[in-house]
Amino acid sequence: MGTGEFCVVCGATDRELVAGMCAPCAADRTVLVFARRQGTVTVCPHCGAREMRGHWERAGASRLLTAEDLAPFLEFHPEVGLRRTRWEEVAATANQRELVGRFHVVFRGVPRDVEVPLTVRVVSRSCPDCSRKSGRYYTAIIQLRGVADDRGEKAPALRARLDRIWAELVREARPDWRKAVSWREELPEGWDCYFTETLPARSIAKLAKQRYGVAIKESASLFGRKNGQEVYRVTFCLRFPRPEVPPNPAADGSD
Ligand SMILES: [Zn+2]
Ligand SMILES: [Zn+2]
Repeated sequence: MGTGEFCVVCGATDRELVAGMCAPCAADRTVLVFARRQGTVTVCPHCGAREMRGHWERAGASRLLTAEDLAPFLEFHPEVGLRRTRWEEVAATANQRELVGRFHVVFRGVPRDVEVPLTVRVVSRSCPDCSRKSGRYYTAIIQLRGVADDRGEKAPALRARLDRIWAELVREARPDWRKAVSWREELPEGWDCYFTETLPARSIAKLAKQRYGVAIKESASLFGRKNGQEVYRVTFCLRFPRPEVPPNPAADGSD
């Protein structure tokens, strides 16, 4: 470092500079800890297992969110050393947690405390082990949900609305489709409808698409092997937007 060099931000001359900046100034201008805006954690309500990319692990874990659940949503600057982590829950609804992570880090020898907000959606779904243990067999699930970013609709109202939609779909479904419905689970974010066969589930999902114009999001996870063939369970996620509320002239107090 030649003489007369100084930090372009604070003017300090007695510090080591990287790209013209001293370490404290660089720390102030760098994203040291970054959290994805929103994360989802899927928990089995029976055993506490978590679903990670189609696989279930950590059976027996706490059903409360832990640092282990939240770590995947974080990124640290490559030059950051993490010294301490503390999570605090600041707000919670049935299926959503608002958290603040507090991190004590060191960046180029400079200690810093960083706060990062994170919103986590908590989805509860029976893991394959618990489903098997309870003797319930299924090959497909139809998930009835609201629109992901609709925060205005309360959970009980959402479930009641989705329940009415389901009743209409079942009424219109062919009897052999109906027969494949095994059971339903009520969740904070809607309903999971379990099927003993996949084709009827797909047919009912298509019926919902025709009637309500909703998109079908289909995903499959490996369930096991049968006669040397891989067996998949298929999930059809259907998100039903709230119907437009007609304007109420009586409620309009302005001119
Ligand atoms: Zn500086
Ligand atoms: Zn389980």
